[in-house]
Amino acid sequence: MTKPVFRFAPSPNGHLHLGHALSALLNARAAVALSGRLLVRVEDIDQARCTPGLELEMFEDLAWLGLTWDEPVLRQSESFPQYRAALERLQDMGLVYPAYLTRAEIRKHVAGFEANGGGWPRDPDGAPLYPGDAAVLSGRDIAERADSDAPFALRLDMKQALERIGRPLTWLEAGAEGEALFDPAVPVTADPAAWGDVVLARKDTPTSYHLSVVVDDARQGITDVVRGKDLYHATSVHRVLQELLQLDAPVYRHHRLILGEDGRKLSKSNRDTSIRSLREAGMSHAELRRRIGL
Ligand code: GLU
Repeated sequence: MTKPVFRFAPSPNGHLHLGHALSALLNARAAVALSGRLLVRVEDIDQARCTPGLELEMFEDLAWLGLTWDEPVLRQSESFPQYRAALERLQDMGLVYPAYLTRAEIRKHVAGFEANGGGWPRDPDGAPLYPGDAAVLSGRDIAERADSDAPFALRLDMKQALERIGRPLTWLEAGAEGEALFDPAVPVTADPAAWGDVVLARKDTPTSYHLSVVVDDARQGITDVVRGKDLYHATSVHRVLQELLQLDAPVYRHHRLILGEDGRKLSKSNRDTSIRSLREAGMSHAELRRRIGL
């Protein structure tokens, strides 16, 4: 049997928080328990927010956590050619289109619709589904934007993608914690249509989270993804891209989230739960493990 390969894939766009500590340590625990390997991937495609300084501090935090991993570390900012190649394959299938509406225009269109008593579908993260350029702009406006320097996103035509795949998709979900690591994986039905036409790339960036995560999980031979429940529904999109690009799907384990004192999901801007500020305030490794329930 081939050895399982795990990965911890943080984005250095802020300081790591307790949720990242849980993810990192669960990955490490699973890799040991299943005699697998653990890789680290730096998800830094957002070059405006991810800085070398934050990356350095991230590695300091991981060292303090006692995390060890196999080299090499994959850095997404060094992998744009691979993402571009995957994007081109999807473009060649006729499944990608340029979308010119700005976020503000989408918001305004949806708000107008809702003000008139209409419901508007939202994706599992709560963002309105893309209405399509033609719902808001005239043919002339669209042509003008296409001819100009206007920003655009490249979106997946989800309906056509699903027609091309032609069958329902599932993924294998196994327990994420403790003994549950050894639970048999069960198939979960994916619901990619709930996401609508997701963004695959932008004018200045040849990729997006969804595209790069799928390309990299395959490139790194990841067999087992352990990550937070906040990405559970995103797996539906990942399955579509894996299917279109003919990539093997890993087994997924989505773990509980650590909530802040206010009961809300932690965010990187939440200073009091960053690993860094907690250790600077004197929290020991053992206390941190207790705080995250390990
Ligand atoms: N980079 C993502 C994050 O920091 C995690 C992506 C993943 O595990 O699929 O939230």
